Amino acid sequence: MNVLDSAVKLLQENEIRPSLTRIHILAYLLTNPVHPTVEQIYQALLPQIPTLSKTTVYNTLDLFLAKKLVKPVGVEYKEKHYDANTQNHGHFFCRVCEKIFDFDTHYIETETPELKGFQIEAKNVYYSGVCLDCRHKNKHKEDKNEKFEGNQDC
Ligand SMILES: [Zn+2]
Ligand SMILES: [Zn+2]
Repeated sequence: MNVLDSAVKLLQENEIRPSLTRIHILAYLLTNPVHPTVEQIYQALLPQIPTLSKTTVYNTLDLFLAKKLVKPVGVEYKEKHYDANTQNHGHFFCRVCEKIFDFDTHYIETETPELKGFQIEAKNVYYSGVCLDCRHKNKHKEDKNEKFEGNQDC
């Protein structure tokens, strides 16, 4: 089944009329798990749907949110990001490239004595810092700086 068919099926299962725009927005979210913003979705789909407006993208996402087809990513950063992965998972926000990475929270699952007996229904795990790629890039820069300083000493 291609992703457009999956999108149609998912819309129908959630009692949303599968209009062309809705199908494309959902298919984009499913195939691009990068936690896009309204702006990113709009820019990506404009070539395929020249009549698309940002308001339509925004309203469509609001509908998806209401039907729990997408989740907002709990990052207070400039714009709202959307996630088609509605399972519990953690997010890591890289402050350098501003990408949001998914990770499995099973590894950090611990019993919290303070919440003993509580019923936990949602978990928002949010880390931030610098991702591996950006750390590598930064490291190269630092290496160069070190060499430069070393030459100065000689
Ligand atoms: Zn990064
Ligand atoms: Zn996510």
